[in-house]
Parts: sequence; C-alpha cells; structure tokens
Amino acid sequence: MSENLLEIKNLKKYFNVGSGTLKAVDDISFSIRKGETFGLVGESGCGKSTAGRTILQLYRPTGGEVSFDGELLNELKGREMMEKRREMQMIFQDPYASLDPRMTVEQIVGEPFDIHGLYPKEKERKEKVINLLETVGLSEEHALRFPHEFSGGQRQRIGIARALALDPKFIVCDEPISALDVSIQAQVVNLLQEIQERTGVTYLFIAHDLSMVRYISDRVAVMYLGQIVELSTSEDLYEKPLHPYTKALLSAIPIPDPKIQKKRQRIHLEGDVPSPIDPKEGCRFCDRCPEKMEICEKITPKLQEIAPHHEVACHLFHKEKPL
Ligand code: SF4
Repeated sequence: MSENLLEIKNLKKYFNVGSGTLKAVDDISFSIRKGETFGLVGESGCGKSTAGRTILQLYRPTGGEVSFDGELLNELKGREMMEKRREMQMIFQDPYASLDPRMTVEQIVGEPFDIHGLYPKEKERKEKVINLLETVGLSEEHALRFPHEFSGGQRQRIGIARALALDPKFIVCDEPISALDVSIQAQVVNLLQEIQERTGVTYLFIAHDLSMVRYISDRVAVMYLGQIVELSTSEDLYEKPLHPYTKALLSAIPIPDPKIQKKRQRIHLEGDVPSPIDPKEGCRFCDRCPEKMEICEKITPKLQEIAPHHEVACHLFHKEKPL
C-alpha cells in the first residue's frame, strides 16, 4: 500500500453564528495516499468545501489535526506556513469569478512566482508561464489576453495552470467542473488525470456530482451535514453502496441506457436537510432516512470499517448496537 501524503484526524471547523454554532465540519478523519485522487462528495452545504479549505489551513481548524508529508500543519505559522503553501494548491469552482478580469493570462499564471520570489528574470518567467500554458492545452498566443476572451473550459485551464505553477504535491480541486458545460467537463477531468500521470500530484476532488467523481477517484468519501457517512474505493461505493444516503444519491444519477434506466427505482428522500447549527444527538440523516430505527435518534453512529477498505457510519451495519 502506498504511503499517506495527508492524514486528517478528528478535524473540526465550527463558525459562531448569531443563533448558535454552525458545525460545518464535525470530526472527520481520513488519509490521502501519495498520487491518488480522493473524492469528497455530498449535497451543497454539507461542509465539503469547508473541509478542503480547512485541510489547506485557509481556515484554521477548530479542532483536530492535519498532517502533510509527516508535518503537522496546525502548528505552522507565518513564513513556515507560506513555504508549505507552495506544495498545496487549490483549483476553484468558478472559473469566471476566480480569475482577476484586469490581469492578463501571463500575469495570472505567473502571480505565484511573484508571491514566492521565483524567476525574477523576465525571460525565464515568461518561458515558465508558456510551459504551464502548454501543459494545460493553451499556447503562447493566449498569454497576453484577458480572462473575458476565453470560454469557461479555457478559463478553468488557466486556473489549473496557475495551480500548477509552483509544482505542488497536493491540489484541492473544489468542484472544478460544476460550472462548466457537460461536454467540457470530461475534457477538464481528462486533463487533470493526464497531469497526475505525468507529475504524480495528489488530488482531493470535491464534487456534488457523483457520476464524474467515479471516473476520477481512487477512493470516495460521502459527506452529510459535516460528517463522513461512507468511505470506500470508488468501485465498491458505486457497486455496493451501504449507507442509505449514498444509495439515494446514486439512485439519482441517470444511466445512459433507457432499458436499465426504466427499471431503476429512484429513492426520494423525505424531509429537508436539517440545519448544521447545533445539530442534535443521533444520526444526522435520521429525519430523511427510509430505514431509520429507534437507536438512530439517540446515538450518533461512528464511521467503522465493516468490510475491507469500506467504512460506514450507520447502525444498520454495526454489529454491536448499544440499545
Ligand atoms: Fe438511517 Fe439509522 Fe443508518 Fe442513520 S443510522 S442512516 S437513520 S439507518
């Protein structure tokens, strides 16, 4: 088994809001291996983007630990943290909003060099920028243009080039394809995979769309209201989902074969997503779960390995039921 690049233990990120404490990320633990793509999926507002930002220390954790290549990130400050940031980058969801409209592509892609004082000589800097543009399927002729002159897919390529500028070991891809047309999504996913094959970079791929995560991820964790409810290899999660929430999410993905699609039963979830502000004890999926039991409202199920490399947080699968 390959070595872990990241180890996330009991990570929490809470925000104080007027009416209580918003538990955006509430005690999540997992590791990400060197060179793998780890998918993190769930509906909007489940805390997956906050988890990505907290892992990168863009939000300081309320509790828990993030270790990166054997080093505890929580303890790094100032210059040390800035140095470490070179190794960890982010690709943002919205390629329209994440690029400064007043900057040329060359300025945008080369900005990380300026921040970290790299390649002060103009010629070398330009060569590096062109190299990055070529890596993402753009070319020298695009360097002096502005973001509004590009399509959504091309803008996301610019965002990827910027993320690659410092040759990072780890990139958080925060819904990098959800703002793009379906036809462009596959191109961007293929590009990310090609880059990984070439450089060995590790990805945390955050998405609400389970269908695309399947193709890019080695392992997938499903999040619901700040917690991980299921974690397994991508294949197992899609072939043998266990948690009622994962099953419901998967049942909503259309299958491109009309005969199979006709036979499938979509699981409609009842009730609304509960508020993440001061959540009550018990399983957070309780109010919507078609398989709810008495114990579920009283005791919060913990994530447990119930088959090799397959963990689930649900009382249906836990051998020892405390009631
Ligand atoms: Fe449903 Fe209970 Fe499992 Fe929660 S613990 S998902 S309520 S069966």
